Amino acid sequence: MAKMKLSSGVVTGSQLQDIFEYCKSVPCALPAVNVVGGNTANAAMQAAKEANSPIIIQYSNGGGVFNAGKFLDNTDQRAAIAGSIAGAEHIRYLSKLYGVPVILHTDHCARKLLPWVDGLLAAGEEYFIAHGEPLYSSHMLDLSEESLEENLATSKAYLERMAKMNMTLEIELGVTGGEEDGVDNADVDASRLYTQPAEVLQAYDVLNGVGDFTVAASFGNTHGVYKPGNVKLRPVILKNSQDKIHTDRGTANDKPLNLVFHGGSGSTKEEIKEAVSYGVVKMNIDTDTQWAFTKPIKEYMDEYDGYLHTQIGNPDGPDKPNKKRIDPRAWVHQGEKGMVARLLEAFEDLGSRDQFDLTK
Ligand SMILES: [Zn+2]
Repeated sequence: MAKMKLSSGVVTGSQLQDIFEYCKSVPCALPAVNVVGGNTANAAMQAAKEANSPIIIQYSNGGGVFNAGKFLDNTDQRAAIAGSIAGAEHIRYLSKLYGVPVILHTDHCARKLLPWVDGLLAAGEEYFIAHGEPLYSSHMLDLSEESLEENLATSKAYLERMAKMNMTLEIELGVTGGEEDGVDNADVDASRLYTQPAEVLQAYDVLNGVGDFTVAASFGNTHGVYKPGNVKLRPVILKNSQDKIHTDRGTANDKPLNLVFHGGSGSTKEEIKEAVSYGVVKMNIDTDTQWAFTKPIKEYMDEYDGYLHTQIGNPDGPDKPNKKRIDPRAWVHQGEKGMVARLLEAFEDLGSRDQFDLTK
């Protein structure tokens, strides 16, 4: 099969749907990496460049706040909105220089955070009028704490608004276990960690025809990396969901859904491969890339410990300056490189490395 050709810059609308279809046919999936500012975003773009693949870069609500600066007041989500917009503009501005296609996305948004996505949609609509495309490619709503009916009714209303500017909506069914970004599902009832294919069908019936959407259906996946416990990953739930829609609704595509795998960190290569074979096109990775960023910085601090206690004086002599070692650029870049290396491993695991032609 010929590799899919893509140009650099932010991908939205039908081109994004084409990428997802291509991914399912390969099959492969794209890493969706949480970033918290320019450094992590640049590392993500560099990784995509080295992997010859598009990448999904996402801001969580907390990531948006952090990008704006934790100093700011976040009343009415204003710091989260501004930080997410600034983050998107950074990536829009630089992705062409990196030469990579980027899918710009926002992560989990529970009902109490809806003013954040509302603000981003308002900015997206303004951007759409000016540029003919939305600012972000897609947003996620996570109303999985609510009843399925409430979840789908609100998701549908948002998708109606988003479809007008060719945006994609990600919804969550079931609950992703573990803790992330201040939301703790560590003690949720185990049955809720597994979505029923009938629920996925219900979501399909509500959203199909309204606009483009992806589904994060839980199959025992958890946020964060923990010691193996009682929760078992059952990717077959994803296959059963695809089969049910294909059979019950007679879809031409035997993988009618574009599925999302949350909590990819800490998963085995076999589990990832199986999930991708069932139509997962996006796998979120956060904890593993956080570790990949922090670890080399810790090593740097340890290695140059003798140079990092005072501005003058180190193991080379009492009068020697330490400017080179204490410059944040020296050690932050170590973190960026660590993150690039971990993302390349993710592209490899997901089968998307060198699967695209970015020379166009
Ligand atoms: Zn998640």
